[in-house]
Amino acid sequence: MVRTHYEALLEAALQGARLEKHDLITLLSAETPEELSMLFAAAYRMKLRYVGGVVRLRGLIEISNICVKNCHYCGIRRGNTALARYTMTREEILDAARLALEFDYGSVVLQAGERCDREWADWIAGIIREIKELSGGRLGITLSLGEETRETYRKWFEAGAHRYLLRIESSNPELYAKMHPADHHFARREQCLADLGEIGYQVGTGVMTGLPRQDATDLAEDILFFRRHDVDMIGMGPYIPHPATPMGRECGDFDPARALLGARKMIAVTRLALRDVNIASTTALQALAPDGREQGLLSGANVIMPNMSPAANRPAYALYTGKPGLDENAEETRAALEKAIAMIGEKIGYGEWGDAPHSVPKRR
Ligand code: SAH
Ligand code: SF4
Repeated sequence: MVRTHYEALLEAALQGARLEKHDLITLLSAETPEELSMLFAAAYRMKLRYVGGVVRLRGLIEISNICVKNCHYCGIRRGNTALARYTMTREEILDAARLALEFDYGSVVLQAGERCDREWADWIAGIIREIKELSGGRLGITLSLGEETRETYRKWFEAGAHRYLLRIESSNPELYAKMHPADHHFARREQCLADLGEIGYQVGTGVMTGLPRQDATDLAEDILFFRRHDVDMIGMGPYIPHPATPMGRECGDFDPARALLGARKMIAVTRLALRDVNIASTTALQALAPDGREQGLLSGANVIMPNMSPAANRPAYALYTGKPGLDENAEETRAALEKAIAMIGEKIGYGEWGDAPHSVPKRR
């Protein structure tokens, strides 16, 4: 049988070849059903080999939708004045953390819009300490709270957080500039990623896929960016237009099936290139198809962030339209997830922090 160039490239990747930019572009350009199924199968093999068929869970607590930023794509941007703003109380956050402990999730993610004031930094540090205390150190804590000063990052690390997610959104500075107001700087974000790593966090970054004017070369550069920054975790998801945003208003027809496929291709090629990192199958995938997160796992992802937020807060944390699970509570989210993961024959890594093998030498 004649092997295609595409097939040969996948085999080389599985045998340990380092994928260069032109290889990544070729792999990301899969279009035919044969290429796509070969790509996903190869990425899945790579995942089993390096991180196993165990899904790592991080209970996601969306602690506030107040944000000082105005990213052109995001539904909770400062300029969306129609949105009711909330911040969970300390007790509500601790209750969500207790629930994550009871569910044996192993770790939580505290996520919010960005706030850079001192009061916020201290309040978050206090909450991190309390979560550590109430769980006897058992819950791992990941933060996803945007750009902060080095001092604040250090304060939160010393309080007990050990992983931080900050997406670069696009590693192409020109694309980045188009997606953000002029006072949001690519270089500043890159500096934050460097600061986080130096402080000792396991660092996660990622991009949105399917952005207007983004092509396979941009995505290949994104993967090279992840490699250059030696990141431990990748959180990527499809861009989903939100009508209350400048980009959402400009966007023409949105094709969910195409967006989902694009995100899966990016997950698969990232797994083939980076091998032993944690890759999230994000909620945005599930917004595009009921089994979107399972499709993400089957394309090479190994982390899921089940929502722990109280049902009452969920509609107000709409980063994009069609966010799933808005009428569910944490218990229902867990039941649905367990069923879905069992369906694809994977296991859940209960009770573990679930750090990526890539970050083991850096573990505290
Ligand atoms: N404020 C923090 C964390 C909350 S936003 C931060 O910006 O890092 C978390 C992620 O949501 C962002 O990194 C972005 O990639 C994603 N997001 C925002 N708007 C989106 C949209 N319209 N479609 C898909 N993802 C979106
Ligand atoms: Fe704020 Fe994050 Fe949304 Fe930007 S992406 S507006 S920083 S919540």
